[in-house]
Amino acid sequence: RPFQVAIDGPAASGKSTTAKMVAQRLGFDYIDTGAFYRCVTLAALSKGIDPSNPSQALQISNLAESSHIGLKTIFSTTSASKSSLPTTKVFLDSKDVSFEIRTGTVSKHVSAVAAIGPVREAVLQKVRDMGATSISQESNSGRDGLVMDGRDIGTVVLPNADLKIFLVADSRVRAERRLQELARSGSKEEVLDIETVQKDLERRDELDRTREVSPLRKADDAVELDTSLLTIEGQVDAIVQEVHR
Ligand code: C5P
Repeated sequence: RPFQVAIDGPAASGKSTTAKMVAQRLGFDYIDTGAFYRCVTLAALSKGIDPSNPSQALQISNLAESSHIGLKTIFSTTSASKSSLPTTKVFLDSKDVSFEIRTGTVSKHVSAVAAIGPVREAVLQKVRDMGATSISQESNSGRDGLVMDGRDIGTVVLPNADLKIFLVADSRVRAERRLQELARSGSKEEVLDIETVQKDLERRDELDRTREVSPLRKADDAVELDTSLLTIEGQVDAIVQEVHR
């Protein structure tokens, strides 16, 4: 089977940027599992469902099952642009929702949605199917490995992954990075102060760590990487070196 890299860690620890660049460097496929929970949250919100109301769990689980979620990552193939950041487009029932799923409203509710057991089962099925087909002969993508990022990849989704990385970083550093990312993306949302961003990240991590089903946790055989003092290139190099070890 193809080489599997699992990358887990708390919110804004740099998982998706790192994972995408590792995939680009190695010629592997990339699957962002957080995007699946974000799509289910968006689907619920756009149907007027309040994700924080426990009595809506069944409806949200049904949405998770019936939604079609697609990802398309565009990698640079020329060696000169190998260090540029690949972009991932996210599709919910064929509609491009790449921007909508990153809004503050979706971020605020996503951890509650991700704590619903049947939602996790539905997403697990979808990401495993995507992992199996993305590198199959049929897709003929020519990519011979897979990088997946999330919260439970090393523990639940790919428990036999060839390499497991657990990224950690100081919450203040993560809040700074998130603010820079929002500024770069030209987000039209109201500008948040760093304390608010830091508190929101900490609240989300707490929900992810303490939920009953597949909580955020470092797998026993994962390599922990503290990125507080590393650049993105440094993170990517460290992981690529682990792959070649
Ligand atoms: O990585 P991202 O911030 O996009 O993930 C959004 C949310 O989805 C996380 O805060 C977490 O609640 C949930 N998630 C999860 N398991 C994963 C990936 C994401 O519970 N494998």
